[in-house]
Amino acid sequence: MLLLPAGVHAQILAPSVAPFSLGVASGWPSATSVVLWTRLTSALTELHASDRMPVGWELAADADFKAVVARGEAMAEREWAHSVHVEVAGLDPDRWYWYRFHAQGQRSPVGRTRTLPEATARPAHLRMVFTSCQHYEGGWYGAHRHIAAEEPDFVIFLGDYIYETSYRHAVRRHPERTEIQTLDEYRRRYACYKGDPDLQAGHAACPWLVAWDDHEVRNNYPGHLPLEYLLPRRAAAYQAFWEHMPLPERLRPDGPTMRRLYTHFDFGDLVRICMLDTRQYRSPQLTASQVHAESDRLLNDPTRTMLGEAQEAWLHARLGTSSAIWNVVAQQTIVSRSGAGKHASYRIASDRWDGYPAARGRLMDALRSTANPVVIGGDVHSFWVGELTEDLYDPRTPPVATELVSSSVSSVGPSARTVARRIASNPQMRYGNGAWRGYVRLDIRREHIDAALRAVYDVTSPDTGAFTLATFLNMADIPGVVRTS
Ligand code: FE
Ligand code: CA
Repeated sequence: MLLLPAGVHAQILAPSVAPFSLGVASGWPSATSVVLWTRLTSALTELHASDRMPVGWELAADADFKAVVARGEAMAEREWAHSVHVEVAGLDPDRWYWYRFHAQGQRSPVGRTRTLPEATARPAHLRMVFTSCQHYEGGWYGAHRHIAAEEPDFVIFLGDYIYETSYRHAVRRHPERTEIQTLDEYRRRYACYKGDPDLQAGHAACPWLVAWDDHEVRNNYPGHLPLEYLLPRRAAAYQAFWEHMPLPERLRPDGPTMRRLYTHFDFGDLVRICMLDTRQYRSPQLTASQVHAESDRLLNDPTRTMLGEAQEAWLHARLGTSSAIWNVVAQQTIVSRSGAGKHASYRIASDRWDGYPAARGRLMDALRSTANPVVIGGDVHSFWVGELTEDLYDPRTPPVATELVSSSVSSVGPSARTVARRIASNPQMRYGNGAWRGYVRLDIRREHIDAALRAVYDVTSPDTGAFTLATFLNMADIPGVVRTS
């Protein structure tokens, strides 16, 4: 059964052929531009030997390419894994376009993309989907096929696009079972994931806004890895990330430092989305022995940071100057307290905001003076909906922001016991469910946001159906979130 919106060509669900076997993608939209992506692959030695391959691209106002509005040629270079990042400028705001590439006598699948409305526009509605965590071995990507069928304006992917290791549990296997470390290994891992036709369908349906989390490099990095080990590996991982994402040319990394990935997107005056990078600039996590007591001096050290000073100042400014009705803060993990246990025995999740209470306090300060703040996240492979309250330690205090956390696309979730313990220990969380894989669909309107937690029935089956697990309503100017079904 095809569940794709009109204009996303059915051929996308057939195995794409070389040199376009990794599909196409778009992202990083503005009111007048968007980035188009593909990467040439080939078993032909001809490609491997070739340093530069020309790739043609065209962008049209219609699905049949009768009205091509822009075309050009890009160079796919061996040094960058023959990836192509074309930033098409001069487009009309707030409209859909179709694009495709051609090279070596082959045409790529067709992708659909769009521009943002102008900053002065007053849009009535935005549909966006967010999710994270797609361990290839955890299951099939039915969630992405269903995301494409939702016809979202864009998808926000919050990290763990690939995983560097294998776990015991597997529905399908990476071709390589060892932990990846080198540039070639990271590239092959992306090629494995991006070969999936449902993931390709998700990318072809609309532009994606992408962030990363830890597994694009290594579980829970930086941790306490020696820098002489971490930095070369991080450089390889960051390069492979850029090579495989619809990111602009100017974000091409330079050594172990990725250029600024955090950014904001305005959808007219309806919503400002601040996309954070909570991974690259953070202070190392505290170890288990360092965090068992929450009053710990180390834990509350105000110099410990989640965003880094520059990004923190940038976020405060973006939120402080926003005139949007809604302000979405898209970050990688869970901001709310999410550990388990009572009082002194409360166990901190040291990789989440729980492990950075001073930084979280500064984020809360920014949210307090922001209009209609909504925090979205991932990482925990389970759905969570709740409120960030005035005093995070006292759920009876008034809500400051709504927090919505998506489950994973395919990565294995926590046990029912763990989820039950977290719910019992954190009453500010209105809802928690770790049993299902899926995504969150947001319909953002001027007066309210409807949020639907969408789950796939069976992650072990490529043609699984999907259903709505629960829905929530967030009214503008009335803090708090209400479950509606
Ligand atoms: Fe994950
Ligand atoms: Ca993660």
